[in-house]
Amino acid sequence: GEATKTTEIAVVTVPAFSHQSSILEFCKRLVLLHHHHFHVTCLIPTVGSPSPASTALVQSLPPSITCIFLPPVSLHDDHQNDAVDVDGLFLQDRLQLAVSRSMPAVRAAVESLRLGSGSGLGPGLGALLGEPLSIEALEIAEEMGVSGYLYFPCSAMMLSLCLYSGELDELGDWEEGIRIPGCVVRVSGKDLPDNLQDRSALAYSQFLQRCLLYRRAQGILVNSFTEMEAGAIQAWQAEEEGNVNSPSIYAIGPIIRTGSSTGGAAGSDPDPNDCLGWLEKQPPNSVLYVSFGSGGTLSHTQITELALGLELSQQRFLWVNVRPPSEKSSENYLNGENDRYKGEKNEPLQDFLPEGFLGRTKGRGLVMACWAPQVRVLGHSSIGGFLSHCGWNSVLESIVCGVPLIAWPLFAEQKTNAAMVVEGLRVGMRPRGMSGGIVEKEEIGRVIKCVMEDGEEGEGIRRRMKELRDAAACALMEDGSSTKTLSNLALKWRKLGGDN
Ligand code: UDP
Repeated sequence: GEATKTTEIAVVTVPAFSHQSSILEFCKRLVLLHHHHFHVTCLIPTVGSPSPASTALVQSLPPSITCIFLPPVSLHDDHQNDAVDVDGLFLQDRLQLAVSRSMPAVRAAVESLRLGSGSGLGPGLGALLGEPLSIEALEIAEEMGVSGYLYFPCSAMMLSLCLYSGELDELGDWEEGIRIPGCVVRVSGKDLPDNLQDRSALAYSQFLQRCLLYRRAQGILVNSFTEMEAGAIQAWQAEEEGNVNSPSIYAIGPIIRTGSSTGGAAGSDPDPNDCLGWLEKQPPNSVLYVSFGSGGTLSHTQITELALGLELSQQRFLWVNVRPPSEKSSENYLNGENDRYKGEKNEPLQDFLPEGFLGRTKGRGLVMACWAPQVRVLGHSSIGGFLSHCGWNSVLESIVCGVPLIAWPLFAEQKTNAAMVVEGLRVGMRPRGMSGGIVEKEEIGRVIKCVMEDGEEGEGIRRRMKELRDAAACALMEDGSSTKTLSNLALKWRKLGGDN
């Protein structure tokens, strides 16, 4: 018709910056490619007040995306239960709890959107899009007769693991590792996500329960692309053909941060230390970028070994988000996102880095306590490698920029991502000794040299990463696989929203 009807999409995210950033980035792509057709209302559960990072993110969005910070919830009365204080587990539990406590507010907001009070035009609510940690919202959608979709901000391999978790569980012994349907690599038990490590724990049975809900979604959007993970994606598509009630899978990635609606690639990210200026002065492909994401933290011994390993490698490096040591690797996750607003002076780096390290590496290395504009850093021609904790966003950003990885997983599903990157895609290396505790400086130095310097192994890794980068770019082109998939999904949503 001539007067195009707008379809409303309700989104329910979680109170963690990298989650919000991924799902909102997807929404931006949706409204950009199909403008005038969609309006998105994103509901954001909050603990305490919204973080500056989230606030800045929300302010950078185009007008067709509205965000609502839900009334803050408190987690404190449940805090005495430190028995579940296992890194990632505890973190996930906290996020989950915050989301659960926000459900009454989610319900009210979705109901009002459904009644058409979302915008003056009275758009139809096409779908509700939740995330794994806000999957409860799909039950609300179901009750209200709204189609529920899941945005899965991780790999298709992880999605396959979730969708088949019931079957995999019945296989019994995981001693020899498991073969996730559609994935070539056998994942060893120790590389499975934290909450799958102890199958007698409550967290494990909760995981199985949540995965059952995945199957009730109308569709699942996965932040990956067919060319990279054809096996896992097709394995489920085959399953779906045989069962009309199975959710369809939509590979719409790689979705990475692009910054404000007006700025260029992640153009609005602050660069308080002018690390981009520093990179300008370095030779091409010469700098190793080191980051453990928005909250990853190392122990004191491990920081020391890493620093000395960087020194031994004799390579240039940019080490960001360097935090005081902690025995708990996800220590800073929930407030780490705010590090981007912290100036260098707040962190006396020399207090916990090896004696004389900063002086000895001056000029060759830049170490900073604060957040870096990562997407712009990875896109810089001086960068030659990325030592990463393998959070899925970081992995995708590295792939989009064609930067080979050194996998240093810490918590949650990062080890599974590392296995995929290193053993599956073979676009990175993993230092030895990781599972046994401390990775020693000699090993760190060796791996860095291997990835950064001339040599057969490094060459192969770099070549495969460039091929993957090209495939990612193709997937996002106008007639690329991910763009076509998104168009199909948009069409479906418009129909659900009442536009025929
Ligand atoms: N990030 C950044 N600067 C930093 C550290 C992280 O811009 O100094 C961004 C990074 O580009 C990515 C996100 O924060 O988009 C981190 O997400 P990821 O999934 O890699 O890890 P998480 O923070 O969830 O552990």
